[in-house]
Amino acid sequence: MIVRKSHAEIDVMREAGRVTARALRSVGDAVRVGITTAELDDIAASVIAEAGALPAFKGYQGFPATICSSCNCVVVHGIPGAERLAEGDIISVDVGAIVDGYYGDSARTWPVGEIEPGIARLLDVTRRSLEAGISKCVPGMRLYDISAAVQGVAEGAGFSVVREYVGHGIGRAMHEEPQIPNYGIAGRGPTLQAGMVLAIEPMVNLGGAAVVQKGDGWTVVTADGSPSAHFEHTVAITTDGPVVLTME
Ligand code: MG
Ligand code: MG
Repeated sequence: MIVRKSHAEIDVMREAGRVTARALRSVGDAVRVGITTAELDDIAASVIAEAGALPAFKGYQGFPATICSSCNCVVVHGIPGAERLAEGDIISVDVGAIVDGYYGDSARTWPVGEIEPGIARLLDVTRRSLEAGISKCVPGMRLYDISAAVQGVAEGAGFSVVREYVGHGIGRAMHEEPQIPNYGIAGRGPTLQAGMVLAIEPMVNLGGAAVVQKGDGWTVVTADGSPSAHFEHTVAITTDGPVVLTME
């Protein structure tokens, strides 16, 4: 069942989204050559704590940190640590915050210094694939209209969409129904209705679509070692159209 949220609930989720966005932007402001992913984690933790919110990921199924930090060929769920960012890297950060029991969830990939043009294009296309998905968050559209829009932009640019990890409904839990694959056939799936809140999150690889989970039980990498990008927003479907909640 897809839980629909009231206006009052969406107002609370907007606050959770705002805190999440602030944490993500603060991390992005700090991305530079030489900083460690543990330092980025501390920044996100401070922003969330100062807002009186709770980190959504820390302790989630045992995850040890506030952010997921995923460099280069790491697709998602990288664990922050002593790793230092280097010139030419890309760094994906995923973060969530809880306000009054409601969740926000957002992710973004940044370049570290100067990056190769092909990788810069991967970031741009992944961001645009998210925007294309968000544009379908309108009452009366179908769930896989979102999926097909994401896939069309990503694969249309010659990149691959990760199949194993998907977007999701979000509210009083981080992961609610429905699952939102980043590929699919337009015109299929449940009809979108006002009050649904969805976390849409394309994960797009420069090379092949296949991914592998590493032995730590978290870190997911591309099977071919190619770079991967990840952009995510929490979006409310309203009668006025899509409203991105993970905005400051
Ligand atoms: Mg996320
Ligand atoms: Mg998510």
